[in-house]
Amino acid sequence: MPEKRVTAKQRTKIAERAHGCCEYCRSQTDFATQSFSVEHIIPRSQGGKTELDNLAFACQGCNGHKYTKTEGYDLVSGKISSLYHPRHQKWCDHFCWNDDYTLILGITPTGRATIETLHLNREGVQNLRRILCEMSKHPPIERGTIKDTPDEPRAELTKKGIRLSLIENKALSQA
Ligand SMILES: [Zn+2]
Repeated sequence: MPEKRVTAKQRTKIAERAHGCCEYCRSQTDFATQSFSVEHIIPRSQGGKTELDNLAFACQGCNGHKYTKTEGYDLVSGKISSLYHPRHQKWCDHFCWNDDYTLILGITPTGRATIETLHLNREGVQNLRRILCEMSKHPPIERGTIKDTPDEPRAELTKKGIRLSLIENKALSQA
């Protein structure tokens, strides 16, 4: 049977669902030189289907490093862990930003294994994050947290690794 391809309609939906951000490293299509890919979270070679539930929006860097991997090594526990699954898991449950928003930190074995395997802190991406941060264009606001729950207590947001001052600045500039 021929392999089912990602349709243009699916691709549009996937890009919109991801708010134009790589679902792993959070890079934004607006500031990328290469178009993003639709990747199979569980690869087709392992029985993964070409369905919305198994597809994620990924930059070329993350897509290339992930390839057909579903597991990676967690340096802290010294164990193999499953990689982050954008459809079944929430980004902020497994990752947060460092103080200057240039590095993604893993807060679970899955988070750490994904950072290592997909090289989420590639040097070029770090440099881009630094510049975008100065322009208040990074980090991208986490949809599903800020937007959907604007009254979420400050402590909760901080725990999730979201910079409040940025959000507040953004709110002020939009006022
Ligand atoms: Zn990426």
